[in-house]
Amino acid sequence: MAKTRDTLPLLRTEEDLARLPAHERIRYRLVGAGSRYHANDNIAAHVRPGELDELKAEVESRMKEVLQALVIDTDSDHNTNDTARRVAKMFIDEVFRGRYQPAPALTEFPNVERLNELMIVGPVKVRSACSHHLCPILGRVWIGVMPNEHSNLIGLSKYARIADWIMSRPQIQEEAVTMLANVLQERVKPDGLAIVMEADHFCMHWRGVKDDESMMTNSVMRGAFLKDANLRREFLSLLSKKG
Ligand SMILES: [Zn+2]
Repeated sequence: MAKTRDTLPLLRTEEDLARLPAHERIRYRLVGAGSRYHANDNIAAHVRPGELDELKAEVESRMKEVLQALVIDTDSDHNTNDTARRVAKMFIDEVFRGRYQPAPALTEFPNVERLNELMIVGPVKVRSACSHHLCPILGRVWIGVMPNEHSNLIGLSKYARIADWIMSRPQIQEEAVTMLANVLQERVKPDGLAIVMEADHFCMHWRGVKDDESMMTNSVMRGAFLKDANLRREFLSLLSKKG
């Protein structure tokens, strides 16, 4: 088999891979599969059992270097002594877990009652972080669904679980609502889907202009909500009452 180093990735055996740090091993699989791995992408399909613990250890050691670069004496400062470990755990197990955990399991029910009335879920509280500064984003999401007889219905609490899975990643608000819309469209298959997200961006409070006007609202309208101005109005008016 002819193989040029320039065009083909160097093939590695499982044994070679095992010797690499976990983040390089996982990246090798992602590149091999042609999968994007931006901050707000989920990479769970490429992470093998036990590798999240390895990743946590790698993030911890890099985080320790960040603290050193900030000229913080983590050896004698009891407050920052264990910070690298805490931050690594917080990133991988908590605030960015939506990158590393598979999608929440959902039970989908066929729409046997043939419901075709506007359904609104929200406000769902969401927590995220901006991709630019890794500062918190705290907000609320409203979801409007217009089902048809072919739609799959999911339990109300599942909307919150999917939103949490999408938001628990470094995100950009516009991309986050689009991602959420794509997942719901694919799972629920409604006639129309509307999402509004309103969020407070802490990078605006904490740094930069220190502007307290940091609320940002954006929306995605699909299908029936795009075509039907009355439906869109009905959704937006119910949402303002529920606020
Ligand atoms: Zn930011």
